Amino acid sequence: MFFLFGLTTREHLQSTRSASCRFCGMFAPQQLILRRTKISVFFIPLLTVRTTRLQVCTNCGGTSRISGMEERALTH
Ligand SMILES: [Zn+2]
Repeated sequence: MFFLFGLTTREHLQSTRSASCRFCGMFAPQQLILRRTKISVFFIPLLTVRTTRLQVCTNCGGTSRISGMEERALTH
C-alpha cells in the first residue's frame, strides 16, 4: 500500500475594488485574491495548510500580502 501526497495551490479572485495603489500611486482597481495551499492525497485535496490573501494592482501588477483584519477593513 502506498500513498501519493502532494500540495495543491489554488487562487480565487474574491473581489475587485478601486483604491490607490501603494506601489504606483495610481487610483486603479485592486484585486483581492485568496490563495489556499492544500495537502492532497491521490489528487484529492484534504487539508488546508496555508491561506494567504493577496492584493494585486491591475495597473502595475504590484502584489502585497494582506492580513485578515486588513481584508475586513477593505471589504466593508
Ligand atoms: Zn499599482
